[in-house]
Amino acid sequence: MEKYLKKIAVLGSTGSIGTQTLDVVRANKDLKVEALGAGSNIELLEQQIREFRPRLAAVYREEKAAELRERVRDLDVTVVSGMEGLLELAVLPETEILVTAIVGMIGIRPTIAAIEAGKDIALANKETLVTAGHLIMPLAKEKGVKILPVDSEHSAIFQCLSGSDGRAIDKLLITASGGPFRGRKKDALAHVTVEDALRHPNWSMGHKITIDSATLVNKGLEVMEARWLFGVELEDIQVVVQPKSIIHSMVQFVDGAVMAQLGTPDMKLPIQYALYYPQRRYLAGERLDFKTLREITFEEPDMETFEGLPLAIGAAKEGGTMPTVFNAANEALVARFLKKEIGFLDIYEGIRGAMEDHRKRENPSLEEILLAEREARDWVESHKF
Ligand code: NDP
Ligand code: MG
Repeated sequence: MEKYLKKIAVLGSTGSIGTQTLDVVRANKDLKVEALGAGSNIELLEQQIREFRPRLAAVYREEKAAELRERVRDLDVTVVSGMEGLLELAVLPETEILVTAIVGMIGIRPTIAAIEAGKDIALANKETLVTAGHLIMPLAKEKGVKILPVDSEHSAIFQCLSGSDGRAIDKLLITASGGPFRGRKKDALAHVTVEDALRHPNWSMGHKITIDSATLVNKGLEVMEARWLFGVELEDIQVVVQPKSIIHSMVQFVDGAVMAQLGTPDMKLPIQYALYYPQRRYLAGERLDFKTLREITFEEPDMETFEGLPLAIGAAKEGGTMPTVFNAANEALVARFLKKEIGFLDIYEGIRGAMEDHRKRENPSLEEILLAEREARDWVESHKF
């Protein structure tokens, strides 16, 4: 019998989701990592290669790939680079599941390539689904591959739907912590710093998604992600603020029953669930303690202050290339915010401006998505705030 139950590739192995994926592998001896990929952090990637012994490593930056190749000469690993390298990782014949733990819509091409090669996708990289969901979901269906959500809200919904009639969904209730600035009004947000915005109350994540959580852009992306994953209408998705992140999301069925998934905030659970679906495995860690947990509170999202959510819903309603522009503008704006070139509220102004100036294309092809991305990035990079 084969020693390994599942062979996986991790694209974005050096990030928050990537390293937690490797924590799950470390704790489960029947998972084998066949390939690891990162952008440029070859120090950590080298350590990961030495521990997990993949046959392939992909590094986006050419010069970093060359350096890594020298460093791991003593090992039996092939180091590839650039987009070609990421694509090679995505379609590696030995793997059956690709964990998309890369940040940003650069994940589109590898994700599509992996689906075409028949790999299941453990999907953390929500930007890809937001911008190319209309291409990815039908392709996955055609190829008979599973798109297994890693995002905690979507994993929660996926868990709530397990064993039930998916057609009987009345609405999805996506929970939100509200981020570090919950309760503040707009004038109090004008001068918040990068450091303030990076202080998320419940989750420790990569910088980009942490800023997205503070703007509520993340919740907007998640609404769009949910729409593709579960095939529901936008009007049937409601965002509920639940500040402590105990309920990870809920499903209301047509008979009024509401199913919720609860737990401590730990991304290893959705990662592990995606990797072993439909099995559940033991996962070490804290448990909810209902003796000390006194209450779970709810609020409505403040859409006037945190425009990331209404802007996303607007983009989703427009459809076509508009979600791409929303997402690409946001990626470029967050990068500028992190470099302290622009203020927090400029993120909203920039997304709105890029969307207003965009001439939407319906049902875009991959090339049209990438073109709309380029336009939105150029808009942001040339705009003076
Ligand atoms: P991080 O910033 O922590 O990690 C990003 C990963 O992507 C790193 O491994 C990075 O490599 C790699 N990467 C970046 N650019 C490239 C590139 N051009 N080519 C190859 N690899 C690249 O992000 P997170 O782990 O926080 O998020 C990853 C995805 O998961 C995002 O889409 C996010 O929205 C989603 N997500 C994350 C959650 C979390 O808890 N962190 C929760 C839910 C969803 P390098 O280190 O070399 O730069
Ligand atoms: Mg989430």
